[in-house]
Parts: sequence; structure tokens; C-alpha cells
Amino acid sequence: MQRPRNPYSSAEIDRASHERENDERMIELASSGAARFVPIDSEKNLVKTSDIKTGGVPEAVFLHGMTGRAIANAADTQVFLGYVEGTPYFAVDVTGKDVPLSELGEFVDLRQVGALLFAREGSILAYARGMTYWHRRHRYCGVCGATTKVVRGGHVRQCTNENCKAEHFPRTDPAVIMLVHHGDKCLLGRGKHFPRGMHSTLAGFVEPGESFEDAVAREVYEEVKVRVNNVTYRSSQPWPFPASVMIGFHAEAESLDFEVNETELEAARWMSREELQPENLPKDGSFFMPRRDSIARRLIEEWLGHEAGPSISG
Ligand SMILES: [Zn+2]
Repeated sequence: MQRPRNPYSSAEIDRASHERENDERMIELASSGAARFVPIDSEKNLVKTSDIKTGGVPEAVFLHGMTGRAIANAADTQVFLGYVEGTPYFAVDVTGKDVPLSELGEFVDLRQVGALLFAREGSILAYARGMTYWHRRHRYCGVCGATTKVVRGGHVRQCTNENCKAEHFPRTDPAVIMLVHHGDKCLLGRGKHFPRGMHSTLAGFVEPGESFEDAVAREVYEEVKVRVNNVTYRSSQPWPFPASVMIGFHAEAESLDFEVNETELEAARWMSREELQPENLPKDGSFFMPRRDSIARRLIEEWLGHEAGPSISG
């Protein structure tokens, strides 16, 4: 059985990485009538949101034809994303450019509308956002300080100093996210910036020299002073907000004792399967779980035995 994919994963995008090497091919594709351009302004994506108020679905805006090429020419950076059903897609960074796009949609934070978009559109927008974010922060070589230039279809920046020529690659910072459980209970925490009432799984960045399993054990101990065993992988989710991938686990606690590290968390509590059944959750907003499109929610739903989790397919 094929397991459901998490939102923003890019299984439907053919990244055609071998074509990035061919500069002429990149130019040919970008100037063809088939090309679609995905504009990014700062960290925001262009989305047609006008129908939301009337119950409609927001739509990603992809530019093509004359408009697309004009915007691409005005952009600082162009990144070949790959093909979707044979159509080539490019991300174009229009940050700070005076481009007339307001009639087509508005630039919004993808996290506000991602759950409402068609899955494939969400994946393309997240990928485009992640790539342009990286470009904006790597204009200078981290080795010698000279300027860098875009090469290989926008998937590498190379130092322009002839004596250096260092190549810089897009970053993705791995973060582990884990549902800690013991017997019939699981441990849910509240981050300091969570909306009031929201409780979720624990999470944290992987450090150099750590395996994912090491990072799970360290983070759980840091946040709640609980030792865990049987760390098992469940699924992963791209999270380019701004530059992560979430790697999801279940982890078994050695005991129910815990102590919240208040520099990391506001609170944590054990919840039984019974307490987490929808009909038993408080109706006053004092406790609710993360959104259904998050891997955190999926980890919880899978532990509860609700098979599909927050499936968003095709
Ligand atoms: Zn350099």
C-alpha cells in the first residue's frame, strides 16, 4: 500500500537535474511559450485569493507568455524547478521590483493558504520559495567574501573570484519531530509562540555529528528531561519556511516522569488515547491539536490508530 504523502512534498515535480548543466537548454526552455514562471516577492507567493471569502479555493498564479517573460527579465534570479506534466517551471524572484501583478493575485505567506491549495500547487510554491530564499542569502561567498553568480539552472552559486571559485549549494536544514509515547499516553507540548490552546509534538534541529535518532533523544531530554528508546521513523515533510525538512518519528519514553525546560517550552502534558478522541476534547479552545496538513498531526493520528492521517494526495 502506498502511504499518503505529506503536503509540500514534490513527487509530482520532475526536477530533471541533468538538464541544469546545459545552459543553452535552460535559455531555450525559459524562452519557450510553454514555460511557466512562479513569482516570489520576499518570502511570499502570488496566489489568487479573491474566491476564498465565498468558499472558493485559492489558486497559485503561474505566469506565462509575454507577461511571464517580462517578469522573468525583470527578476534578479531565475531557478529552473523542473517539469510538471511536461511543462517547464521556473521560480523568479521579484523582490523589490516594480512589477504589475496585483490584478492577478496577491503575495501571501504560503503557510496561510497552503492547506487550501491543491497539493501540487502547494509543492511548486514551497519549492520556489525555498530556492529564492536561499539565493537572497548567498550573494557573497562564505569562503572569501567575493560576489557569487548563479549557475546550473539556479541550483548552484559559484564564487566569482578566480582564485576561489567555491561552489555553494542550496541548504536544507534537517529537523526531527517526534511523538513521545508511553503505554496508552503520549506527551504533547506547548511552544512559547503557539496559538493559545494548541499542543503538539516536540521538535528540534539536528546538529552536526548527530544521527536523526541521536537528535530525537537529545531534543526530548533537553525539552522535558525524558529518556526515550525505540525511535522509529514514520515519514518526512519538506518545510521550506524558510529552509527545513521535518523528519518524523515515534519514540518510546522510559517513564511518565518529566520536567519542562521553560526556556524551550511553555508546558507539556500526557494525554491518553481516550482523551484525544475528538468527542472528548474540550470545546472551549483550551486544548487543540496541530492542523491536519502538518506532519505533527499525522504523527499523532498514526499513533491513535487513525490510518490515513492528514492525507493529501495528488
Ligand atoms: Zn570565494
